[in-house]
Amino acid sequence: MNTLGDYQIRRSTRAKRARIIVTAEKIEVVAPLRMPEKQIRQFVAAKQAWLESAKNKVQKHVESIVRLSPLEYTEGALIPYQGEYYVLALKVSQERKILISFEQGFVVSVPESFSKLTSEDLNVRIQQAFIHWMMQMAAQQSRHYIERYAALYHLHPRSIVIKTQKSRWGSCGIHNDINLNWLLILAPAAVLEYVVIHELCHIQERNHSAAFWLLVAKHCPDYKSSRQWLKQHGASLMLGL
Ligand SMILES: [Zn+2]
Repeated sequence: MNTLGDYQIRRSTRAKRARIIVTAEKIEVVAPLRMPEKQIRQFVAAKQAWLESAKNKVQKHVESIVRLSPLEYTEGALIPYQGEYYVLALKVSQERKILISFEQGFVVSVPESFSKLTSEDLNVRIQQAFIHWMMQMAAQQSRHYIERYAALYHLHPRSIVIKTQKSRWGSCGIHNDINLNWLLILAPAAVLEYVVIHELCHIQERNHSAAFWLLVAKHCPDYKSSRQWLKQHGASLMLGL
């Protein structure tokens, strides 16, 4: 393998002419065995515009599938919560189940008996405990916003349900039952606040008309930046914890 600038050259007996492979990790030029390096350099130079656009596409794709969650729930892992990342600390406890506490960061107390579990199983247990905890926080925070904005708007939902939804952040049914996606608790607080207001406003306006957005803006003047955040990070957020 040969490095030239910011790409690598790989000689191939089967290559009849040069080609470029762009991946998230590297740029590779596959070239015939006897192709002079000067010619390879010229080939790459001629492909500069194409290369830039290919790099951008790969970059965008990588960004779009970035997970917010850690690969493993181990000591020092970063846990997303309300738009920030917090360090995870693990400690052994005499309790019978996993307990999560949150102050400057997350402290997860793991029962001593869990030391018999494989690291994979333990990882799943901690992940499930986090999902449970986050759903509770999402419910608490949503209730808080609903109470505040129901009073301000004089709009009152019949029920509020926090659940796992694969493709939406919230909904408001014809009988004013509001559903909210718990994953919003991982987003900045303003985003959950906006989604609550959005669904609440559907009690009055059942569409996305200008009147609807005017109503949203009444108590959420900055709603556009929350929409923008969801547009930008929504795919990652949907991947969950
Ligand atoms: Zn809507």
